Amino acid sequence: MRWLLNFIGLLAVGAGVFALLHFGFLGGPQVQLQREFDRAMIDPKTSASLGGNLAWRLLFDRPGQVCAVTVELHQAERRATLFELPRSGLKDGTSLSLTDYTPVLPKLGFQEGSAVLKVIEEDCSMFRRRGQRSQSVVLDFTAPQITLTSNQHYVNQGGADVATYTTSSDAVWSGVRVGPYRFRGFPQPGGTGHFSFFVFSYELPPETPITLVAIDGAGNETTASLVPARFFPKEFRHREIPIDDRFISTKVMDIISQTSELRDQGDPLKNFLQVNRDLRIKNNDFLKQLAAKSAEQFYWHDAFQPLGNAAIEASFADYRSYLYQGAKVDEQVHLGFDMAVTERYPIQASGRGRVVFAGYLGIYGNTIVIDHGYGLMTLYGHLSGIDVHEGDMVERAQKIGNSGATGLAAGDHLHFSMLIDGVQTNPIEFWDQHWIDDHVTLRLGKSL
Ligand SMILES: [Zn+2]
Repeated sequence: MRWLLNFIGLLAVGAGVFALLHFGFLGGPQVQLQREFDRAMIDPKTSASLGGNLAWRLLFDRPGQVCAVTVELHQAERRATLFELPRSGLKDGTSLSLTDYTPVLPKLGFQEGSAVLKVIEEDCSMFRRRGQRSQSVVLDFTAPQITLTSNQHYVNQGGADVATYTTSSDAVWSGVRVGPYRFRGFPQPGGTGHFSFFVFSYELPPETPITLVAIDGAGNETTASLVPARFFPKEFRHREIPIDDRFISTKVMDIISQTSELRDQGDPLKNFLQVNRDLRIKNNDFLKQLAAKSAEQFYWHDAFQPLGNAAIEASFADYRSYLYQGAKVDEQVHLGFDMAVTERYPIQASGRGRVVFAGYLGIYGNTIVIDHGYGLMTLYGHLSGIDVHEGDMVERAQKIGNSGATGLAAGDHLHFSMLIDGVQTNPIEFWDQHWIDDHVTLRLGKSL
């Protein structure tokens, strides 16, 4: 009998250990569900609403050790399995799109309001240990509303415009989408509606739709079309730029020596291309990130001023072919104006604003970027001297530095760019008081 008791005892202990392991008391896998946000668009602190086409991301604390994940939605007695993922589909950061489920949930009897999302995971050990976690969510199937209130939109290819609109209070992001670019909307100061500056970027085909967008905290999205009353396609100029070894051994090598992530490639052409192509992209990405620093207020009121008495050496969106030893080696688009007067000519702020960058910026050399509010910024490049610091407020026509030839510049000139939410726009419009009156003042009135 004694051996039988011992055997039963062993069995019991074994079963207990198995249960402990299986149900995760000894540390089963940990899987987290995290809402996937387009960080530029939606504040992740908004409540964990569920309903639209937001994606959720699975995060594993021990990637590679989870063999199955089930995601369930519970509300009162209702239960729906949203995802059952086998091992092959499991990677840290796996995205789960809810797009397919949103229309189904109301048909399954789920109602707007509180619900619970459960994640059940199983590890790959022989014990198949299980872990589970829950997250409360709010189901929301109702999209926000958005209505265009401005009209008579005259849009130039490569140029800007202003849309005004009203949106329901549940929208956590609203603005304008043009092709791949998104432009934030803001509450109109002193008004009841919203407004958004947007750019019809130079390279977009004329038929690219302009769309108002409102998104709520659950990811439900509403769009409305903005159809221009007139659209003016533009032909941009084509220029050939000869590059020689002297330019590379001086200008290009200077930039490489001042840029920590670049190395001498031991070949003039490779050195030129890593600056003209790769660094150009990095510098422009930096400008896109700077857009987040824009203030929600109008610093400027009057038309912007160009550099007076200057010879225009290059215009906005000139298409450039670079020639080296008689062959075309690169193509880029010149985004801005090149204006030259005399060497070390005094450079003034083209409009009132706050300096958000003052320093060395690769191809642009010594550079100042001024924020004018609501996403609008101006850039002054190739400077020989900088008089201002990051954070300074500057008045229109205040001297901020001197022209020069730093960065990728063959001679002394000012490179001037204008950006809205990091997207380059043709400055010629903002230099023109009639354009400001018709496109901005008429729509925003006293706000400006
Ligand atoms: Zn330039």
